[in-house]
Amino acid sequence: LTSKLPDVGVTIFTRMSQLAASCKAVNLSQGFPDFPCDPALLQGVTEAMQAGHNQYAPMTGLPALREAIASKLQQSLNVHVDAEREITVTAGATQALFSVIASVLHAGDEALILEPAYDSYAPAILAQGAGVIRVALRAPAFAVDWDEVERAVTPRTRLIIVNNPNNPATSVFGPADLDALAQLAERHDLLVLADEVYEHLVFDGRQHHSVLAHPVLRARSFAVYSFGKTFHATGWKVGYCVAPPALSAELRKLHQYLVFSVSTPMQHALAAYLQQPAHWQGLPDFYQARRERLAPGLTQAGFQLLPNAGTYFQLADYSAIRPDLGELDFAEWLTRSYGVASIPVSAFYADGRDQHLVRFCFAKQDSTLDEAIKRLAELR
Ligand code: PMP
Ligand code: GLN
Repeated sequence: LTSKLPDVGVTIFTRMSQLAASCKAVNLSQGFPDFPCDPALLQGVTEAMQAGHNQYAPMTGLPALREAIASKLQQSLNVHVDAEREITVTAGATQALFSVIASVLHAGDEALILEPAYDSYAPAILAQGAGVIRVALRAPAFAVDWDEVERAVTPRTRLIIVNNPNNPATSVFGPADLDALAQLAERHDLLVLADEVYEHLVFDGRQHHSVLAHPVLRARSFAVYSFGKTFHATGWKVGYCVAPPALSAELRKLHQYLVFSVSTPMQHALAAYLQQPAHWQGLPDFYQARRERLAPGLTQAGFQLLPNAGTYFQLADYSAIRPDLGELDFAEWLTRSYGVASIPVSAFYADGRDQHLVRFCFAKQDSTLDEAIKRLAELR
């Protein structure tokens, strides 16, 4: 067998979570909450199972869930989406991302990604026999230089992937970024894949600027979301993709053969749970409080914190602690020696560049964050 992905091993998330477990470290590496999801949501699953909703859901998703998503988008973004033709329920955002990439790219095409980039984009592109164009964003601001992006586009470029809010950069797009993206996409006839899984995790009074609310981008974008991220249930693997009818139709051709459909009782529970705007409107305050609990502990331990505008991750510069170590070595050393696991940011760059940055996940209960802070205090 000739590998289609010769450079791919296990992901950094698997690697660091395994190391954390074997060292009994506080795991602030892989991004998942360690607190329970809302009992009302669990109750919804139980009730759906007991009511007999245990067979295949419709291929595109349960109508009630697609309707609930459409009405949420109307409320939160003031955007009209056709639940029947424009929403596809997927097995998490990961499957939506892969399916979009596979439905859009032909062998020999190119897709453009901005680094640091979430780890699933490039392998999905490469698996299609397509090429990856990478434009690097630099710490601390990780702002996009749209002129540089434009210079990187070639006649073969079909797709640009953006992640807003950005994991791991923790930056968010402003309206000017969306305008620049729209102009670029129109000029070069690009499709846009917008990974907006952290749509509700924007802080300090900021707003999330979605491609769905931008008329030009709305017409040429696939926007991808994750209930795992939004409702503290990453293990459920339910998400969805919103795209215009013609794009959704192409996505569904592949989706039906990749998974056909997604867990029925979970979809029933989510459809009911989405009826209450309070279930998502409180998320910024909830996570901002987590961010503020962890930040002083990191600073006191000697880290220099980068600005965080969104996501449930905090980037930290460790130059004042162990300037001699590269990022992966530092993350492993911190896990083994101090019992706190993080993610090296170099994992999100193809060239593995070293900026002396690690990423901590603050989607954790108070006691977990406090234990991490206590352990890190030993660094002083
Ligand atoms: N995109 C980004 C930016 C993510 O951080 C993640 C996972 N946390 C995903 C996609 C995958 O989401 P899911 O767990 O719903 O597959
Ligand atoms: N998205 C999660 C993170 O950034 C990891 C999900 C995974 O392990 N694939 O930490």
